[in-house]
Amino acid sequence: MRWPRFSRPRDGAFGRAPEGADAQDPRDPAVARARMVADQLRARGIDDDDVLAAFERVERHRFVTDDDPYGDHALPVGSGQTISQPYVVAVMTDAVRPDDGWHDARMLEIGTGSGYQAAILAELGARVVSIERHEELATAARQHLADTGYADRVEVIVGDGSAGWPAEAPYRAILVTAGGPSIPEPLLDQLEPDGGRLVMPVGEREHQALTLVERRGDERSHRDLGPVVFVPLIGEHGHSAR
Ligand code: SAM
Repeated sequence: MRWPRFSRPRDGAFGRAPEGADAQDPRDPAVARARMVADQLRARGIDDDDVLAAFERVERHRFVTDDDPYGDHALPVGSGQTISQPYVVAVMTDAVRPDDGWHDARMLEIGTGSGYQAAILAELGARVVSIERHEELATAARQHLADTGYADRVEVIVGDGSAGWPAEAPYRAILVTAGGPSIPEPLLDQLEPDGGRLVMPVGEREHQALTLVERRGDERSHRDLGPVVFVPLIGEHGHSAR
């Protein structure tokens, strides 16, 4: 078992500017990560120490090729796709936190992209099935996950994730990292009935509302977490390709 993987700073230390930060080299990825967590996540209200710790540990610069991998903006990941700014990844992660914790929680991600979001979930202790429709992105993501030590907790599958992955259902949580016109019914069916959570951008191709669904038996409560802009979910239960 790989959790916990690193020794933790004292409680509550994540997301605070590192001591002597001004004297540290901002090009050092560890320094950039600590600043990202302090300035972009904690300062904007992400206060779960486990989530902050995961963002401080996962090496985002090994999932994206960009001069500013820890910047406060979305980044290209290839095949015309993007990864969201760290804050949006953190909000989505925070929102799907299972009531009984992350440890060995079975999770489904739709839209593997670079593999970064899946690595964050794995770092938190989840077991992740992640589906990507672009084979070249899936291949690169598998490599990133292997290089950073998360391959044993993340299974990357190539296909149309808008129908979910019934073979390993039910899932404690489902994260859809592409925007669709509505929440696909097959995904709701694959959520655990006792408090399973799904987060997905829902709306037009150009802009969506980040939506949290919680399932209790046949009841599903919906909450709007705010406006977002994601690349489209393309597939049988998403938008058409064009
Ligand atoms: N989570 C990713 C990361 O950490 O890098 C970023 C995901 S990016 C915003 C959205 C991804 O969803 C794209 O890679 C896109 O190819 C993928 N996608 C879109 N429709 C899909 C579908 N039906 N099934 C699987 N992946 C899909």
